[in-house]
Amino acid sequence: MKVHFLPADDSTCGWYHLSPARTPKPAHRGHRDARWAIIGAGFTGLAAARQLALNFPDDEIVLVEAQEVGLGPSGRNAGFAIDLPHDIGADDYIGDIETAKTTLKLNLAGQDYLRQLVKAHGINCHMEASGKYQAAVEPRGMAVLDAYRRGLDKLNQPYEMIDEAELPQHLGTHFYKKALFTPGAILVQPSALVKGLAEALPDNVTLYEWTPITQVEYGCHTRLIHSSGSINAANVILANNSFGMHFGFLKGRMLPIFTYASITRPLSLDEQIQLGGKPHWGAIPADPFGTTVRRTPDNRLLIRNSFSFNPDGRSNQKYLERFVRRHKASFALRFPMLPQVTFEYTWGGALAMARNHSGFFGQLAPNVYGALGCNGLGVTRGTITGKLLADWLHGERNELIDFLLASPGPNVNPPQPFLSAGVNFNLLWGQYRAGRES
Ligand SMILES: Cc1cc2nc3c(=O)[nH]c(=O)nc-3n(C[C@H](O)[C@H](O)[C@H](O)COP(=O)(O)OP(=O)(O)OC[C@H]3O[C@@H](n4cnc5c(N)ncnc54)[C@H](O)[C@@H]3O)c2cc1C
Repeated sequence: MKVHFLPADDSTCGWYHLSPARTPKPAHRGHRDARWAIIGAGFTGLAAARQLALNFPDDEIVLVEAQEVGLGPSGRNAGFAIDLPHDIGADDYIGDIETAKTTLKLNLAGQDYLRQLVKAHGINCHMEASGKYQAAVEPRGMAVLDAYRRGLDKLNQPYEMIDEAELPQHLGTHFYKKALFTPGAILVQPSALVKGLAEALPDNVTLYEWTPITQVEYGCHTRLIHSSGSINAANVILANNSFGMHFGFLKGRMLPIFTYASITRPLSLDEQIQLGGKPHWGAIPADPFGTTVRRTPDNRLLIRNSFSFNPDGRSNQKYLERFVRRHKASFALRFPMLPQVTFEYTWGGALAMARNHSGFFGQLAPNVYGALGCNGLGVTRGTITGKLLADWLHGERNELIDFLLASPGPNVNPPQPFLSAGVNFNLLWGQYRAGRES
């Protein structure tokens, strides 16, 4: 079958340009065999490749990436490696308590794994155990924080509720009315992290970058075809998020929803003093349709908001032009003391969402496996699902693997054109309802 849609992310991702440059590994040319081939070198594919290589030290693992590591969604997110369950489908973000407990274990395992790798390989990715603020402005957002607090009580997790008067000491800005601080989130420079992970892969992993798979033939071996040759693999792992749908699986079940970010130039010393607050922090919105803000360790401010539904999974310039204006407005509301500070980069990237917020983990067909659909939480979740998939393929079973295998997976969506109409309406309505939080 032909793979009709290939990733095409914009070239303006600030994290990519601000992280250490590396030489991409050569694209694949010619024909080769492999026992294992993984499609997609984001958090999920990198973790799966590493763990397969450790579990099967005598096997050669092939990892194929259409673009360059650090340029795809894993390198262009807001960089929150979140510990707590973040079930945006539940009123209190926690939902069913037993599911939440296991989700917490999964996320903590993902964080631990990343932390260990960063330390072991000296990856310079500004990893900071800063925690995160969930900040509200509108009454609706404040009600969400109260519900979330009750959820955290149920889960027995620490937090601090910070009121309007105290918040400027934390974030500098006087914009927010209330925030709930949870200490367990880790903040990273995501592109630097995935580039570092790619450089630290075990010796029995061969990474091919700029090698988009354009055709696939399934059989007792799977033939992955690209413009300069093919790879014949005994086992294939799809770790390419919503692009997994174009390999014939979970068709129409994942929604490539794009969200957008801008990052400023570094603040001068005077500007840092005008801003005040802690030297670096991350705040996510109480309303899921609101704005994420970060102050980075290199003294830049990041704004992330706005959504578009791009069914082909590819970036679209018209949205970048539209949403940079919204970023500027959101920045001006939050940082009126910094009118002269401009954005240096604006970019977008795909979240693979499912209406039931469930990802896929397990077997898709004979000798074809997948960890797909991280629902906007792929830094920790993608990492741990990639690792656990490799453990499961090695014959291991544990509570976390059983939990992932039992998850329902992304649910079926209505057909087009109803799907686009419904998703676009929900995105517009959600952003409108977020009010000043957007
Ligand atoms: C602006 C933004 C902010 C976000 N903020 C956060 C956050 O703070 N925390 C968080 O946890 N998550 C966040 N996310 C979501 C997070 O980026 C994703 O969940 C994560 O990247 C998923 O990782 P992955 O490895 O599963 O997939 P991806 O990162 O999408 O990697 C899949 C790879 O597959 C490759 N691929 C696709 N098709 C092919 C093909 N045919 N041949 C070869 N390769 C192919 C792609 O090029 C891609 O690099 C955010 C996303 C965006 C866009």
